[in-house]
Amino acid sequence: MRNVPIKACKPTLLGIPFDTNSSYLRGSAGAPPLIREAFRCDSSNSSTESGIELGSESLLDAGDLELPANGEFEAVESAVGELLDRGQTPVCLGGDHSITYPIVRAFGKRFADLAIIHFDAHTDLYDEFEGNRYSHACPFARIMEEGLAKRLIQVGIRTMNSHQRKQAARFGVEVVEMRELPALERLKLAGPVYVSFDIDVLDPAFAPGISHREPGGMSVREAVAHLHAITGELVGADIVEFNPKQDVSQLTAMVCAKILKEILGKMIVG
Ligand code: MN
Ligand code: MN
Repeated sequence: MRNVPIKACKPTLLGIPFDTNSSYLRGSAGAPPLIREAFRCDSSNSSTESGIELGSESLLDAGDLELPANGEFEAVESAVGELLDRGQTPVCLGGDHSITYPIVRAFGKRFADLAIIHFDAHTDLYDEFEGNRYSHACPFARIMEEGLAKRLIQVGIRTMNSHQRKQAARFGVEVVEMRELPALERLKLAGPVYVSFDIDVLDPAFAPGISHREPGGMSVREAVAHLHAITGELVGADIVEFNPKQDVSQLTAMVCAKILKEILGKMIVG
């Protein structure tokens, strides 16, 4: 287990340009540079709502991972593990949601009591999807099978079918459906917390640049309020499923940058 004090850890961006496990549309591999560009865009400043100025002294950037032709998940797990072992706090920019499985493998091997808060329109709990057990529809089934997280809390879900209800019951997943929001009290946890943020949890009116537009989702304000409500030590995060090919006037890139800022502000303030 890691022995670096959490407060000493620096958030470190790591782009993961990978969308091979997307089931419907490709394109999210192109997201990391566009999220960075929006994050640094002069149209806004670098302050977060928690009162932090995100300067270069508070944030590191490990660049985009160069993925091999085979063994991409092993490369992701080892890159994230290296950051953790250096006392850094990985904030990964996807990519499709399949990358969360190798990312969380690195965390699960280093944190005994990890809780995951997963923002998504979808549970991503399929045992397999169209013959692919590593599809972006499956990462949380793999994570729970391997016991990589002690708790999984899913927020904003609005596409549950009977298979997913069975999977959620089998793994003891705490599902907070979209129709139950706000659910700020359910995000008050203790111990290490990992946030996985699928941009399609937001209503497509706010974030059209996604592969699966699922109406009836969160506003950006509701998402920020739920992020701010999280307690516990935020030890890592990912932002996934932004598909620039579907974006309109860089709207979704800017929303990703906003979510990124608030996650970073939360990590730094604690
Ligand atoms: Mn997802
Ligand atoms: Mn989704």
